[in-house]
Amino acid sequence: MLTPAGLVPFTTIDFPNRLAAVIFFQGCPLRCPFCHNPNLQPIQTESTAQWSEIVSFLKTRQKQLDGVVFSGGEPLMQADLKKGIQTVKEMGFQTALHTSGVFPDKFADVLPLIDWVGLDIKAPWAKYSLLTGRPDISESVQKSLRLLIQSQTSYEVRTTLDPRYLTVDDVYQSAKELLAENVQTYTLQKYRTFDADKNPPQQSQIDSFFKDTDLMTYLQNHFSHFTCR
Ligand code: SF4
Repeated sequence: MLTPAGLVPFTTIDFPNRLAAVIFFQGCPLRCPFCHNPNLQPIQTESTAQWSEIVSFLKTRQKQLDGVVFSGGEPLMQADLKKGIQTVKEMGFQTALHTSGVFPDKFADVLPLIDWVGLDIKAPWAKYSLLTGRPDISESVQKSLRLLIQSQTSYEVRTTLDPRYLTVDDVYQSAKELLAENVQTYTLQKYRTFDADKNPPQQSQIDSFFKDTDLMTYLQNHFSHFTCR
């Protein structure tokens, strides 16, 4: 059983160089303090979107779209995700997975079916509990990161910088840890404020990471592909 929470029928930004649809799945084991989609955190048995309807929609887009993105929440919480990916692949689509890497065994199981992975790295390993609301989870994420790098699958490792929880020193520390794992493609994402965030950081605080020329130069010089968004 798959419990999709919704579908974005067309995107050019969630699967690099492909026109894609994005399926969001219900459920996430993390409790990131800056989560934009807390409604996706509970794993529900009542789905707000029907998998069969999404498959029917995708059948009408086989000529228009290159790929399908499995996103969340945490899509690897879905017991039948592999079957869903196989269904989409059999329809001729390329596949992308957005994941926080907290289920390395499930990740290893679906990785051969995935054409591109967006892996969220929330913080340097020592601060992982603070940024995810879950203790002792960083080892699982490290395991997923190693699986990804060893697999040769195309990927992006990305970190969202909320200045309430991360500092410039944290970014240096995380970059060093990722470089030690041979990460070559890294993206820093700006924290985006949203209505439900009652105590958002100042925009100047959000921007400060990206205006730090020493930090930006360090990252550009050390990763083969470094971007900001
Ligand atoms: S991993 Fe994503 S969906 Fe899950 S709590 Fe964190 S920000 Fe929210």
